Amino acid sequence: MSIELKIKKNIPLAPLTTFKIGGSAKFFIEVANKEDLVEAIEWAKKEKEPIYFLGGGSKVLIADEGLPGLVIKFANREANNLSPRFHCGAGASLAYVISLTRAAGLSGLEWGFGIPMATIGGSIRGNAGGFGMNMGEIVETVEAYNIKKNRWETLSHKDCQFGYRTSIFKEDSDLIIWSATLRLKPAPVEQIRATMEKNMQYRDTGMPRLPSPGSALKNLLLEDIRHANPQLAEFIDEQGVAKGGKVATAYLIDLHGLKGKAIGGAKISLEHANFIVNTGHATARDVLELIEFVKKEIKTRFKIDLEEEIVLLK
Ligand SMILES: Cc1cc2nc3c(=O)[nH]c(=O)nc-3n(C[C@H](O)[C@H](O)[C@H](O)COP(=O)(O)OP(=O)(O)OC[C@H]3O[C@@H](n4cnc5c(N)ncnc54)[C@H](O)[C@@H]3O)c2cc1C
Repeated sequence: MSIELKIKKNIPLAPLTTFKIGGSAKFFIEVANKEDLVEAIEWAKKEKEPIYFLGGGSKVLIADEGLPGLVIKFANREANNLSPRFHCGAGASLAYVISLTRAAGLSGLEWGFGIPMATIGGSIRGNAGGFGMNMGEIVETVEAYNIKKNRWETLSHKDCQFGYRTSIFKEDSDLIIWSATLRLKPAPVEQIRATMEKNMQYRDTGMPRLPSPGSALKNLLLEDIRHANPQLAEFIDEQGVAKGGKVATAYLIDLHGLKGKAIGGAKISLEHANFIVNTGHATARDVLELIEFVKKEIKTRFKIDLEEEIVLLK
């Protein structure tokens, strides 16, 4: 079938995200093989349509107006056990890979247990993580397509330039993740299971039930706070709330009494101050206004600049 016949029109995107917000894609395709990915990109270039990429949609906010171009969703969902490695397609669900690695007695993904809908590709791009671990630590190589140079590239762990919630794929939007080899560590299955259960208990008590894309804003480095506001850093030291040199942005938002603040259908969760939830009919505009409000309040009160973790697609 030609690529034109595989591309669909006017596909609602909200159901493909955990936030359940946003309009439709003008054009949409799910790609399960490399040929379709390259042909879809070539088609969009020829038609002068902007290109957007979607994994599990668990970190994105889609614009109310929808996306005026081609949305490419990764459907290469395979995950092969090459113990102690796993080779995964970008579209493989993180939850699925976690269940396979647990069964295989391979440790390194316990932090992600309980995250809904995320894919391997999206998690590598944003270097997702938690509980002191992150995706980058276990990525050995990534196979990527360079949409500007029209060629396949293999990146080593070092080439990926992982940092706190970032990687080369976030900095250079021409590099699209197709697959990755993860290198895990053999460990007793019972130990892996126990760590996951402990992490899940934490998520169960602290994570809102309403639709969201996880943390809205990046956490802070204590060193940066010390630089911007030494008095606040001293207070944080006294309270002992920094962990591994990081301060949860939720702590400052809560300290300023913003839990429960709502604009339209978007609300700062009562359970977790860095989660903005969709109470039913939130628009992307409501969410963006609420984020701006929080950033302004935190800047005025604490002299701290906050940065978005959620990704706006518009
Ligand atoms: C309840 C909840 C809890 C969460 N907890 C955590 C947590 O503990 N830690 C954490 O880090 N995150 C957390 N998240 C956020 C999110 O699940 C992760 O960041 C996840 O890794 C995003 O993956 P995704 O496939 O859903 O990406 P998407 O949301 O689909 O996309 C995110 C970005 O990556 C791009 N992208 C997607 N796939 C590719 C690809 N193959 N190549 C290039 N670019 C691509 C997209 O264009 C977009 O810019 C949570 C989310 C929810 C809803």
